Amino acid sequence: MRRIETTAPEGTVEAGRQLARDLAPGAVVALSGDLGAGKTHFVRGLAESWGAAEEATSPTFALLHEYDTPRGKICHLDLYRARDTEEIWSAVHDELDASGGLLVIEWADRCPELLPPDAIRVAIAHDGEGRRMISIEP
Ligand code: ADP
Ligand code: MG
Repeated sequence: MRRIETTAPEGTVEAGRQLARDLAPGAVVALSGDLGAGKTHFVRGLAESWGAAEEATSPTFALLHEYDTPRGKICHLDLYRARDTEEIWSAVHDELDASGGLLVIEWADRCPELLPPDAIRVAIAHDGEGRRMISIEP
């Protein structure tokens, strides 16, 4: 497990950028942490590192955002308001099977049984004013 402490939002974006360098299409990144922990900031760094033209924003109301990048497609899913996570999950998998992209999931702990065993787990915890502790497994 890797731990990164950040003291400002940009530090969380940078942690996302760093992880993105080690990721290949087909990877699944499972993000957990409270509302406002910084999950979307982390995804912003991931998407930016892969060269997405569009800035990653919260898909809380859309459930799914997609970014086309030079390294492949990124599917950004947010299960915060999801009702039938299994249905959404299977739709995303169909999509990924076709595109071979990277899948990033906010509130992934809402469907732990659906995550592949090799999913990269990123937990972001509040650690005082502006500070966050980011844990990355494996
Ligand atoms: P989430 O997607 O987990 O709900 P967001 O990334 O949308 O979280 O928002 C995180 C909020 O917390 C933002 O308002 C951001 O400015 C603030 N924040 C403060 N410190 C940090 C930090 N170290 N990392 C990330 N966000 C931070
Ligand atoms: Mg979010």
